[in-house]
Amino acid sequence: MTDRYGVIGHPISHSKSPVIHAQFASQTGQDLTYAPIDVAPDELVNTLDNLIHDGYKGLNVTVPHKNAVVTLMDELSNRARLAGAVNTITAQDDNRLVGDNTDGIGLVRDLTRNLRFELLDADILILGAGGATRGIVPSLLDESPREVLIANRTLARAEELVSAFGSSGADLGNIGACQFDELQARQFDLIINATSAGLHGEVPPFPDSIIDAEVVCYDLSYAMKPTPFVAWALQQGAEEVHQGWGMLVEQAAASFRIWRGVRPDTKPILANLP
Ligand code: NAP
Repeated sequence: MTDRYGVIGHPISHSKSPVIHAQFASQTGQDLTYAPIDVAPDELVNTLDNLIHDGYKGLNVTVPHKNAVVTLMDELSNRARLAGAVNTITAQDDNRLVGDNTDGIGLVRDLTRNLRFELLDADILILGAGGATRGIVPSLLDESPREVLIANRTLARAEELVSAFGSSGADLGNIGACQFDELQARQFDLIINATSAGLHGEVPPFPDSIIDAEVVCYDLSYAMKPTPFVAWALQQGAEEVHQGWGMLVEQAAASFRIWRGVRPDTKPILANLP
C-alpha cells in the first residue's frame, strides 16, 4: 500500500519539499506520496490529529509551526529537545508521535560532505539568533569548532542561546554572544547568515571587515538568484559563498531516512540547484 507523507506550513505553496521527496522516492523505489498541506495556526491541533488518523506516516513541519508542534509530540529526540523545534514527525504504529529536528545535521552534512569544509577547530560566526540558529548550534558544536560566536541585533536573544548551550547550560562547547558592531577586527573561517532580513531584501549593518577572500560565507536562505547576503559578501571580496539549498536537501534526506530507513543520494538533486 502507498504510504502518505507531507509537509505542513502556512503558506506552503512555495515549498520545494514535495519535489525533493518525490525524487528521493523514485530514486530509492519507495512507494509513497508526499503532499504540501496548508495549515493555519489556529487549525494546527485539529489538522495534525486528522492527518494522523487518515493514515499519514510522517510529516515535515515548516514555518510557522516548528515550535508549536513540540508540545503535541508524545516523544522528542534529543536534537528536537535542544532545538525547541520539530521539523520531522513520525507516526508510530500505535499513532504515538515522535518529533525530531534534522535542520542541524542537514547543515553540517552540507558543509562537511558536499562543501568539504573542516568544522574541527574552526572559528564560526552566526549572524542571527532566531529559531534556525537554535536548531543548528548543537550540531555545529558537536563537530568541535574552536568557537561559535552568535551576533544578533537583539543581544538578549543571542545571550539566551549561550545560556542554553554554553557552560552554564547543556555545556555543548565554546559559544559566545555579541552585537554586530562588536565584530570589527574579528576574523572567522565560516560566517553563517541566519537572519531573515534577506526575505525583505535587506542586509543588516554587518561590519564589512568580517569578510575577506578566505572566509566561507553560507546563507541559510536560498533563492534562484544571489540572496542579499550572498551579493553583499561577494561585493566585500568573499570568494566562496553558498546559499542554503544544500541544507534544505540534506535535512530532507535525513527525514526520509528516519521514515524509510534508506538514505537517498542527494547528489543528483544538488547538481540541479542554482
Ligand atoms: P526567526 O526565528 O524569525 O529569526 C530571525 C532572525 O533574523 C533574528 O535573529 C532577527 O533578529 C534577525 N533579523 C530579522 N530581520 C533583521 C534585520 N532587519 N536586521 C537584523 N536582524 C534581523 O527566523 P528563523 O526561523 O531563524 O529563520 C532565519 C532564516 O533561515 C530564514 O531566512 C529561513 O528561511 C532560513 N532557514 C533556512 C533553512 C534551510 O533549510 N536552508 C532552514 C531553516 C531556516 P532579532 O532577534 O533582533 O529580531
